[in-house]
Amino acid sequence: MRCPGCGSLDTQVKDSRPTEDSAAIRRRRVCLTCNFRFTTFERVQLRELVVIKRNGRRVPFDRDKLMRSLSIALRKRPVEPERVEEMVSKIVRELESIGESEIASEMIGETVMEHLRNLDDVAYVRFASVYRNFREPKDFEQALAELSGDDEPRPGPAKPGPAKPARPSAAARK
Ligand SMILES: [Zn+2]
Repeated sequence: MRCPGCGSLDTQVKDSRPTEDSAAIRRRRVCLTCNFRFTTFERVQLRELVVIKRNGRRVPFDRDKLMRSLSIALRKRPVEPERVEEMVSKIVRELESIGESEIASEMIGETVMEHLRNLDDVAYVRFASVYRNFREPKDFEQALAELSGDDEPRPGPAKPGPAKPARPSAAARK
């Protein structure tokens, strides 16, 4: 494994153990050239996933990218990194189990939100605000309502939320 610090191939595994949920093997490595320490994970991959983006482009699914957007949503939240790792494994396993190798980014976003909602409320709303591109306060209200279970989850990402029959004035909605 190449050292991410100096690019040397002269690296060594110092320690190797399964993660808490045994879904992965974590290896601590050290570069023998520059002494840089880093960690790698070995996981089962059921299939290669391709993401169909909103603009129709197809890109390989990138677990690390998902991890990064989650760590932004979870910034300063009291959530153990191990639990995030576990959640991401579950999400990926779920996506892989759909049986399609190409998955719409909306589907991934909704799957992530479903899991995030059980992990941390604040991170859920943060992620939703970026992912659903919130523009108005009522978008936040909707996300918060979903958290408290007052509202049905959206039927699909492409459609607007369900109309509320109690408030016909909402007909002004685009
Ligand atoms: Zn190095």
